[in-house]
Amino acid sequence: MGLIVQKFGGTSVGSIENILKVAERVAEKKRNGNEMVIVISAMGDSTDNLINYAYKFTNNPVSRELDVLISTGEQQSGALLSIVLNSMGLETVSMTGHQIGIITDANFKNAKILKINEVKIRDELNKGKIVVVAGFQGVNLFEEITTLGRGGSDTTAVALAAVLKADICEIYTDVEGVYSLDPNLDDKSQKFKTLSYDELLDLSFSGAKVMHPRAAELARKFNIPLVIRSSFSEDDGTIIVKNIEGLDREKVYAITLHKDEVRLIFNNFKVPGTFNDFLNELRKHGVAPDTISYEVLNEVPHVTMIITRHHLELLKKKLAKKELNFEYNDFSEEDNITTITIHGIGLTIETEIFNEILSVLSERQEKVLGINKESRKLELVLISSKPDELVKILNRKLNLDNGLKN
Ligand code: ADP
Ligand code: ASP
Ligand code: MG
Repeated sequence: MGLIVQKFGGTSVGSIENILKVAERVAEKKRNGNEMVIVISAMGDSTDNLINYAYKFTNNPVSRELDVLISTGEQQSGALLSIVLNSMGLETVSMTGHQIGIITDANFKNAKILKINEVKIRDELNKGKIVVVAGFQGVNLFEEITTLGRGGSDTTAVALAAVLKADICEIYTDVEGVYSLDPNLDDKSQKFKTLSYDELLDLSFSGAKVMHPRAAELARKFNIPLVIRSSFSEDDGTIIVKNIEGLDREKVYAITLHKDEVRLIFNNFKVPGTFNDFLNELRKHGVAPDTISYEVLNEVPHVTMIITRHHLELLKKKLAKKELNFEYNDFSEEDNITTITIHGIGLTIETEIFNEILSVLSERQEKVLGINKESRKLELVLISSKPDELVKILNRKLNLDNGLKN
Protein backbone atom coordinates (compact mmCIF):
# COMPACT_ATOMS: atom_id res chain seq x y z
CA MET A 1 0.00 0.00 0.00
CA GLY A 2 1.30 3.43 -0.84
CA LEU A 3 0.91 6.55 -2.91
CA ILE A 4 1.29 5.86 -6.62
CA VAL A 5 1.59 8.43 -9.41
CA GLN A 6 0.83 6.92 -12.81
CA LYS A 7 1.17 8.79 -16.09
CA PHE A 8 -0.47 7.61 -19.31
CA GLY A 9 0.78 9.00 -22.62
CA GLY A 10 -1.15 9.91 -25.77
CA THR A 11 -1.27 6.43 -27.34
CA SER A 12 -2.24 4.86 -24.01
CA VAL A 13 -5.42 6.98 -24.00
CA GLY A 14 -5.71 7.21 -27.81
CA SER A 15 -9.09 5.45 -28.07
CA ILE A 16 -12.14 4.60 -25.97
CA GLU A 17 -10.92 0.98 -25.66
CA ASN A 18 -7.50 2.14 -24.48
CA ILE A 19 -9.00 4.51 -21.91
CA LEU A 20 -10.98 1.55 -20.60
CA LYS A 21 -7.77 -0.52 -20.30
CA VAL A 22 -6.13 2.36 -18.42
CA ALA A 23 -9.11 2.53 -16.08
CA GLU A 24 -8.81 -1.20 -15.34
CA ARG A 25 -5.12 -0.80 -14.47
CA VAL A 26 -5.84 2.15 -12.21
CA ALA A 27 -8.82 0.45 -10.55
CA GLU A 28 -6.80 -2.67 -9.71
CA LYS A 29 -4.17 -0.73 -7.78
CA LYS A 30 -6.79 1.44 -6.09
CA ARG A 31 -8.72 -1.63 -4.98
CA ASN A 32 -5.48 -3.01 -3.54
CA GLY A 33 -5.55 -0.07 -1.14
CA ASN A 34 -3.20 2.43 -2.79
CA GLU A 35 -3.71 6.18 -3.04
CA MET A 36 -3.73 7.01 -6.74
CA VAL A 37 -2.81 10.17 -8.65
CA ILE A 38 -3.17 9.73 -12.42
CA VAL A 39 -1.57 12.15 -14.87
CA ILE A 40 -3.02 12.00 -18.32
CA SER A 41 -1.93 13.15 -21.81
CA ALA A 42 -4.22 14.23 -24.61
CA MET A 43 -5.75 11.44 -26.75
CA GLY A 44 -3.52 10.25 -29.63
CA ASP A 45 -2.73 13.04 -32.08
CA SER A 46 -5.15 15.54 -30.60
CA THR A 47 -2.47 18.06 -29.54
CA ASP A 48 -1.05 18.02 -33.09
CA ASN A 49 -4.55 18.45 -34.51
CA LEU A 50 -5.27 21.46 -32.28
CA ILE A 51 -1.97 23.07 -33.31
CA ASN A 52 -2.77 22.45 -36.98
CA TYR A 53 -6.15 24.16 -36.58
CA ALA A 54 -4.45 27.28 -35.21
CA TYR A 55 -1.98 27.34 -38.13
CA LYS A 56 -4.89 27.24 -40.60
CA PHE A 57 -5.52 30.90 -39.68
CA THR A 58 -1.98 32.25 -39.40
CA ASN A 59 1.68 31.24 -39.47
CA ASN A 60 2.15 33.06 -36.24
CA PRO A 61 -0.55 32.17 -33.71
CA VAL A 62 -0.38 34.10 -30.43
CA SER A 63 1.48 31.90 -27.92
CA ARG A 64 -0.89 32.68 -25.07
CA GLU A 65 -3.91 31.51 -27.08
CA LEU A 66 -2.07 28.47 -28.39
CA ASP A 67 -1.55 27.37 -24.79
CA VAL A 68 -5.22 27.92 -23.93
CA LEU A 69 -6.04 25.79 -26.96
CA ILE A 70 -3.64 22.88 -26.55
CA SER A 71 -4.17 22.51 -22.82
CA THR A 72 -7.74 21.40 -23.56
CA GLY A 73 -6.64 18.00 -24.94
CA GLU A 74 -5.53 16.80 -21.50
CA GLN A 75 -8.69 18.18 -19.92
CA GLN A 76 -10.81 16.01 -22.23
CA SER A 77 -8.95 12.75 -21.64
CA GLY A 78 -8.78 13.42 -17.89
CA ALA A 79 -12.54 13.93 -17.67
CA LEU A 80 -13.16 10.81 -19.77
CA LEU A 81 -10.95 8.66 -17.54
CA SER A 82 -12.64 10.06 -14.46
CA ILE A 83 -16.08 9.26 -15.95
CA VAL A 84 -15.09 5.64 -16.68
CA LEU A 85 -13.59 5.10 -13.24
CA ASN A 86 -16.67 6.60 -11.67
CA SER A 87 -18.90 4.28 -13.66
CA MET A 88 -16.84 1.38 -12.25
CA GLY A 89 -17.88 2.42 -8.76
CA LEU A 90 -14.72 4.34 -7.81
CA GLU A 91 -14.69 7.85 -6.40
CA THR A 92 -12.72 10.15 -8.67
CA VAL A 93 -12.11 13.78 -9.47
CA SER A 94 -10.39 15.19 -12.55
CA MET A 95 -8.56 18.48 -12.32
CA THR A 96 -6.73 20.90 -14.60
CA GLY A 97 -3.24 22.20 -13.84
CA HIS A 98 -4.83 25.42 -12.60
CA GLN A 99 -7.24 23.63 -10.26
CA ILE A 100 -4.50 21.65 -8.54
CA GLY A 101 -2.25 24.69 -8.23
CA ILE A 102 0.66 24.11 -10.66
CA ILE A 103 2.39 27.48 -10.92
CA THR A 104 4.84 28.02 -13.79
CA ASP A 105 6.95 30.81 -15.20
CA ALA A 106 5.46 32.96 -17.97
CA ASN A 107 7.17 31.21 -20.88
CA PHE A 108 4.19 30.14 -22.99
CA LYS A 109 4.59 26.84 -24.91
CA ASN A 110 7.64 25.85 -22.87
CA ALA A 111 6.96 26.89 -19.29
CA LYS A 112 8.84 25.61 -16.25
CA ILE A 113 7.07 24.52 -13.07
CA LEU A 114 7.90 26.89 -10.21
CA LYS A 115 5.81 25.31 -7.49
CA ILE A 116 2.89 23.03 -6.82
CA ASN A 117 0.38 23.59 -4.06
CA GLU A 118 -0.37 20.03 -3.02
CA VAL A 119 -3.15 20.87 -0.50
CA LYS A 120 -6.00 20.37 -2.97
CA ILE A 121 -4.74 16.96 -4.13
CA ARG A 122 -4.11 15.84 -0.55
CA ASP A 123 -7.67 16.85 0.42
CA GLU A 124 -9.12 14.76 -2.40
CA LEU A 125 -6.84 11.80 -1.64
CA ASN A 126 -7.87 11.98 2.01
CA LYS A 127 -11.49 11.67 0.90
CA GLY A 128 -10.47 8.39 -0.77
CA LYS A 129 -10.70 9.73 -4.30
CA ILE A 130 -8.56 8.88 -7.31
CA VAL A 131 -7.19 12.23 -8.52
CA VAL A 132 -6.89 12.51 -12.31
CA VAL A 133 -4.66 15.41 -13.32
CA ALA A 134 -4.49 16.99 -16.78
CA GLY A 135 -0.78 16.78 -17.66
CA PHE A 136 1.41 19.28 -19.54
CA GLN A 137 -0.05 22.47 -18.05
CA GLY A 138 -0.11 25.01 -15.30
CA VAL A 139 -0.77 28.71 -14.86
CA ASN A 140 1.66 31.59 -14.55
CA LEU A 141 1.60 34.09 -11.68
CA PHE A 142 -1.21 35.99 -13.47
CA GLU A 143 -3.28 32.80 -13.69
CA GLU A 144 -2.84 32.54 -17.43
CA ILE A 145 -2.70 29.00 -18.79
CA THR A 146 0.77 27.79 -19.81
CA THR A 147 2.01 24.50 -21.24
CA LEU A 148 5.24 22.71 -20.40
CA GLY A 149 6.67 21.94 -23.86
CA ARG A 150 5.79 18.99 -26.11
CA GLY A 151 5.83 15.77 -24.13
CA GLY A 152 5.51 17.72 -20.88
CA SER A 153 3.00 15.43 -19.14
CA ASP A 154 6.00 13.36 -17.97
CA THR A 155 7.17 16.46 -16.13
CA THR A 156 3.78 16.95 -14.46
CA ALA A 157 3.92 13.34 -13.22
CA VAL A 158 7.45 13.48 -11.86
CA ALA A 159 6.90 16.89 -10.25
CA LEU A 160 3.75 15.62 -8.52
CA ALA A 161 5.59 12.49 -7.37
CA ALA A 162 8.22 14.81 -5.86
CA VAL A 163 5.85 17.08 -3.93
CA LEU A 164 3.61 14.23 -2.80
CA LYS A 165 6.62 12.06 -1.89
CA ALA A 166 5.08 9.22 -3.89
CA ASP A 167 6.24 5.67 -3.29
CA ILE A 168 6.53 5.17 -7.04
CA CYS A 169 6.03 7.10 -10.27
CA GLU A 170 5.05 4.87 -13.17
CA ILE A 171 5.28 6.27 -16.70
CA TYR A 172 3.08 4.20 -19.04
CA THR A 173 3.80 4.56 -22.74
CA ASP A 174 3.62 2.71 -26.07
CA VAL A 175 6.98 0.87 -25.79
CA GLU A 176 8.19 -1.50 -23.07
CA GLY A 177 10.78 0.84 -21.58
CA VAL A 178 13.93 2.70 -22.55
CA TYR A 179 15.95 1.09 -25.35
CA SER A 180 19.48 1.38 -26.71
CA LEU A 181 17.92 3.04 -29.76
CA ASP A 182 14.31 4.04 -30.43
CA PRO A 183 12.72 0.58 -30.94
CA ASN A 184 10.57 2.04 -33.69
CA LEU A 185 13.77 2.69 -35.70
CA ASP A 186 15.34 -0.73 -35.16
CA ASP A 187 13.58 -3.83 -33.87
CA LYS A 188 17.01 -5.12 -32.80
CA SER A 189 17.48 -2.38 -30.20
CA GLN A 190 17.62 -3.67 -26.65
CA LYS A 191 15.57 -2.67 -23.67
CA PHE A 192 17.35 -1.62 -20.48
CA LYS A 193 16.13 -3.42 -17.39
CA THR A 194 17.72 -0.72 -15.29
CA LEU A 195 19.15 2.67 -16.16
CA SER A 196 20.68 5.29 -13.89
CA TYR A 197 19.20 8.78 -13.45
CA ASP A 198 22.29 10.19 -15.14
CA GLU A 199 21.91 7.88 -18.11
CA LEU A 200 18.19 8.66 -18.44
CA LEU A 201 19.01 12.36 -18.35
CA ASP A 202 21.70 11.97 -21.03
CA LEU A 203 19.39 9.96 -23.29
CA SER A 204 16.36 12.22 -22.92
CA PHE A 205 18.31 15.44 -23.46
CA SER A 206 19.83 14.07 -26.62
CA GLY A 207 16.55 12.97 -28.19
CA ALA A 208 15.12 9.80 -26.57
CA LYS A 209 11.55 11.03 -26.68
CA VAL A 210 10.30 8.34 -24.30
CA MET A 211 10.92 10.72 -21.37
CA HIS A 212 10.72 14.51 -21.35
CA PRO A 213 14.15 15.95 -20.44
CA ARG A 214 12.79 18.12 -17.63
CA ALA A 215 11.08 15.10 -16.12
CA ALA A 216 14.40 13.23 -16.16
CA GLU A 217 16.06 16.22 -14.52
CA LEU A 218 13.48 16.38 -11.71
CA ALA A 219 13.57 12.61 -11.20
CA ARG A 220 17.32 12.80 -10.68
CA LYS A 221 17.18 15.86 -8.46
CA PHE A 222 14.55 14.41 -6.13
CA ASN A 223 15.54 10.74 -6.41
CA ILE A 224 12.05 9.77 -7.54
CA PRO A 225 11.40 6.00 -7.62
CA LEU A 226 10.61 5.72 -11.32
CA VAL A 227 9.69 3.08 -13.84
CA ILE A 228 9.00 3.45 -17.57
CA ARG A 229 6.80 0.70 -18.95
CA SER A 230 4.14 -0.21 -21.50
CA SER A 231 0.39 0.33 -21.20
CA PHE A 232 -0.09 -2.63 -23.49
CA SER A 233 1.90 -5.39 -21.79
CA GLU A 234 2.85 -6.67 -18.36
CA ASP A 235 6.60 -6.35 -18.99
CA ASP A 236 8.48 -4.93 -15.97
CA GLY A 237 9.76 -2.00 -18.07
CA THR A 238 12.91 -0.01 -17.29
CA ILE A 239 13.55 0.77 -13.64
CA ILE A 240 15.48 3.95 -12.99
CA VAL A 241 18.07 3.60 -10.22
CA LYS A 242 20.73 5.76 -8.63
CA ASN A 243 23.68 3.68 -9.78
CA ILE A 244 23.98 0.68 -12.02
CA GLU A 245 25.55 -1.74 -9.57
CA GLY A 246 27.96 -4.54 -10.28
CA LEU A 247 28.15 -3.95 -13.99
CA ASP A 248 30.08 -1.75 -16.32
CA ARG A 249 28.32 -0.68 -19.45
CA GLU A 250 29.85 -1.74 -22.67
CA LYS A 251 31.70 1.14 -24.29
CA VAL A 252 28.71 2.16 -26.39
CA TYR A 253 25.36 1.59 -24.72
CA ALA A 254 22.90 3.79 -26.60
CA ILE A 255 22.33 6.01 -29.64
CA THR A 256 19.95 8.95 -29.70
CA LEU A 257 19.27 11.62 -32.25
CA HIS A 258 17.76 15.05 -32.75
CA LYS A 259 16.45 15.45 -36.27
CA ASP A 260 15.20 18.35 -38.22
CA GLU A 261 17.39 21.04 -36.73
CA VAL A 262 18.64 24.08 -38.61
CA ARG A 263 22.12 25.58 -38.95
CA LEU A 264 22.16 29.36 -38.95
CA ILE A 265 25.20 31.41 -39.85
CA PHE A 266 25.17 35.17 -39.19
CA ASN A 267 27.69 36.98 -41.40
CA ASN A 268 29.52 40.05 -40.25
CA PHE A 269 28.10 39.71 -36.78
CA LYS A 270 28.57 42.63 -34.37
CA VAL A 271 27.44 43.14 -30.78
CA PRO A 272 27.71 46.41 -28.85
CA GLY A 273 29.27 44.63 -25.85
CA THR A 274 30.90 41.21 -25.55
CA PHE A 275 29.81 37.85 -26.93
CA ASN A 276 28.86 36.93 -23.35
CA ASP A 277 26.40 39.84 -23.31
CA PHE A 278 24.88 38.48 -26.49
CA LEU A 279 24.51 35.00 -24.95
CA ASN A 280 22.86 36.57 -21.94
CA GLU A 281 20.46 38.45 -24.17
CA LEU A 282 19.46 35.24 -25.99
CA ARG A 283 18.89 33.63 -22.61
CA LYS A 284 16.68 36.50 -21.43
CA HIS A 285 14.55 36.17 -24.56
CA GLY A 286 14.22 32.40 -24.11
CA VAL A 287 16.17 31.59 -27.30
CA ALA A 288 18.26 28.50 -26.62
CA PRO A 289 20.35 27.20 -29.53
CA ASP A 290 21.73 23.67 -29.07
CA THR A 291 25.20 24.85 -30.05
CA ILE A 292 26.60 28.28 -30.74
CA SER A 293 30.07 29.41 -31.74
CA TYR A 294 31.78 32.66 -32.66
CA GLU A 295 34.68 32.79 -35.07
CA VAL A 296 36.46 35.24 -37.33
CA LEU A 297 36.96 33.97 -40.89
CA ASN A 298 38.92 36.14 -43.34
CA GLU A 299 38.60 38.95 -40.82
CA VAL A 300 34.78 38.69 -40.94
CA PRO A 301 33.13 37.72 -37.64
CA HIS A 302 30.54 34.91 -37.88
CA VAL A 303 28.18 33.32 -35.42
CA THR A 304 27.01 29.77 -36.14
CA MET A 305 24.09 28.14 -34.34
CA ILE A 306 22.48 24.73 -34.48
CA ILE A 307 18.93 25.35 -33.38
CA THR A 308 15.59 23.55 -33.15
CA ARG A 309 12.64 24.80 -35.20
CA HIS A 310 10.86 25.96 -32.05
CA HIS A 311 13.76 28.20 -31.02
CA LEU A 312 14.38 29.31 -34.62
CA GLU A 313 10.79 30.56 -34.82
CA LEU A 314 11.24 32.45 -31.58
CA LEU A 315 14.56 33.95 -32.74
CA LYS A 316 13.02 35.10 -36.02
CA LYS A 317 10.15 36.78 -34.16
CA LYS A 318 12.65 38.65 -31.98
CA LEU A 319 14.73 39.63 -35.03
CA ALA A 320 11.65 40.90 -36.86
CA LYS A 321 10.71 43.06 -33.87
CA LYS A 322 14.34 44.19 -33.49
CA GLU A 323 14.31 43.05 -29.87
CA LEU A 324 17.83 41.61 -29.98
CA ASN A 325 20.72 43.96 -29.71
CA PHE A 326 23.16 42.87 -32.44
CA GLU A 327 23.94 43.55 -36.08
CA TYR A 328 24.69 41.33 -39.06
CA ASN A 329 24.77 41.65 -42.85
CA ASP A 330 22.69 38.55 -43.56
CA PHE A 331 22.18 35.04 -42.35
CA SER A 332 22.13 31.68 -44.11
CA GLU A 333 19.92 28.81 -43.09
CA GLU A 334 20.56 25.11 -43.73
CA ASP A 335 17.94 22.40 -43.07
CA ASN A 336 18.17 18.67 -42.43
CA ILE A 337 20.67 19.00 -39.63
CA THR A 338 20.84 15.94 -37.39
CA THR A 339 22.75 15.52 -34.17
CA ILE A 340 23.49 11.88 -33.41
CA THR A 341 24.74 11.11 -29.92
CA ILE A 342 26.70 7.93 -29.29
CA HIS A 343 26.56 7.21 -25.55
CA GLY A 344 29.49 5.49 -23.92
CA ILE A 345 32.49 6.09 -21.77
CA GLY A 346 35.80 7.27 -23.22
CA LEU A 347 34.80 7.55 -26.86
CA THR A 348 37.66 9.48 -28.33
CA ILE A 349 38.68 9.89 -31.93
CA GLU A 350 41.52 7.40 -31.45
CA THR A 351 39.25 4.51 -30.50
CA GLU A 352 38.37 1.58 -32.73
CA ILE A 353 34.69 2.42 -32.24
CA PHE A 354 35.22 5.86 -33.72
CA ASN A 355 36.90 4.20 -36.67
CA GLU A 356 33.82 2.06 -37.22
CA ILE A 357 31.54 5.10 -36.99
CA LEU A 358 33.69 6.89 -39.52
CA SER A 359 33.61 3.98 -41.96
CA VAL A 360 29.78 4.03 -41.91
CA LEU A 361 29.70 7.79 -42.44
CA SER A 362 32.19 7.60 -45.31
CA GLU A 363 30.47 4.70 -47.02
CA ARG A 364 27.19 6.62 -46.99
CA GLN A 365 28.86 9.91 -47.91
CA GLU A 366 27.25 11.63 -44.95
CA LYS A 367 28.27 15.29 -44.66
CA VAL A 368 29.71 15.75 -41.16
CA LEU A 369 29.74 19.32 -39.87
CA GLY A 370 31.24 18.75 -36.47
CA ILE A 371 32.10 16.35 -33.68
CA ASN A 372 31.87 17.12 -29.97
CA LYS A 373 33.45 14.87 -27.40
CA GLU A 374 32.36 14.69 -23.78
CA SER A 375 33.31 12.23 -21.07
CA ARG A 376 30.15 10.16 -21.51
CA LYS A 377 29.22 10.76 -25.13
CA LEU A 378 30.28 11.65 -28.63
CA GLU A 379 28.08 13.96 -30.70
CA LEU A 380 28.08 13.97 -34.48
CA VAL A 381 26.49 16.93 -36.20
CA LEU A 382 25.70 16.21 -39.83
CA ILE A 383 23.48 16.93 -42.79
CA SER A 384 21.64 13.71 -43.42
CA SER A 385 18.75 13.01 -45.74
CA LYS A 386 18.02 9.64 -44.08
CA PRO A 387 19.01 9.97 -40.42
CA ASP A 388 16.73 7.11 -39.27
CA GLU A 389 18.44 4.71 -41.65
CA LEU A 390 21.85 5.94 -40.55
CA VAL A 391 21.26 5.34 -36.82
CA LYS A 392 19.89 1.88 -37.52
CA ILE A 393 23.07 0.98 -39.43
CA LEU A 394 25.22 2.43 -36.64
CA ASN A 395 23.21 0.50 -34.06
CA ARG A 396 23.93 -2.78 -35.83
CA LYS A 397 27.53 -1.99 -36.72
CA LEU A 398 28.46 -0.97 -33.18
CA ASN A 399 26.81 -4.09 -31.84
CA LEU A 400 24.89 -2.27 -29.19
CA ASP A 401 23.23 -5.45 -28.05
CA ASN A 402 26.44 -6.56 -26.32
CA GLY A 403 26.43 -6.25 -22.57
CA LEU A 404 23.02 -4.72 -22.10
CA LYS A 405 21.59 -7.52 -20.04
CA ASN A 406 21.06 -5.44 -16.90
P1 ADP B 1 3.84 9.07 -24.75
O1 ADP B 1 2.75 9.59 -25.60
O2 ADP B 1 3.48 7.80 -24.03
O3 ADP B 1 4.44 10.11 -23.85
P2 ADP B 1 6.05 9.40 -26.59
O4 ADP B 1 5.71 9.27 -28.03
O5 ADP B 1 6.27 10.74 -26.02
O6 ADP B 1 4.95 8.58 -25.76
O7 ADP B 1 7.36 8.53 -26.25
C1 ADP B 1 7.40 7.17 -26.62
C2 ADP B 1 8.18 7.03 -27.92
O8 ADP B 1 9.53 7.40 -27.67
C3 ADP B 1 8.28 5.63 -28.44
O9 ADP B 1 7.17 5.28 -29.23
C4 ADP B 1 9.58 5.65 -29.23
O10 ADP B 1 9.35 5.76 -30.62
C5 ADP B 1 10.29 6.93 -28.77
N1 ADP B 1 11.69 6.70 -28.36
C6 ADP B 1 12.74 7.45 -28.81
N2 ADP B 1 13.90 7.00 -28.30
C7 ADP B 1 13.59 5.95 -27.50
C8 ADP B 1 14.36 5.07 -26.69
N3 ADP B 1 15.70 5.18 -26.62
N4 ADP B 1 13.73 4.10 -25.99
C9 ADP B 1 12.38 3.97 -26.07
N5 ADP B 1 11.59 4.77 -26.82
C10 ADP B 1 12.18 5.76 -27.53
N1 ASP C 1 -0.20 16.30 -25.22
C1 ASP C 1 1.09 16.95 -25.10
C2 ASP C 1 1.92 16.68 -26.34
O1 ASP C 1 1.46 16.03 -27.25
C3 ASP C 1 1.83 16.58 -23.85
C4 ASP C 1 2.22 15.13 -23.70
O2 ASP C 1 1.78 14.25 -24.47
O3 ASP C 1 2.99 14.83 -22.78
O4 ASP C 1 3.02 17.15 -26.43
MG1 MG D 1 5.82 11.63 -24.24
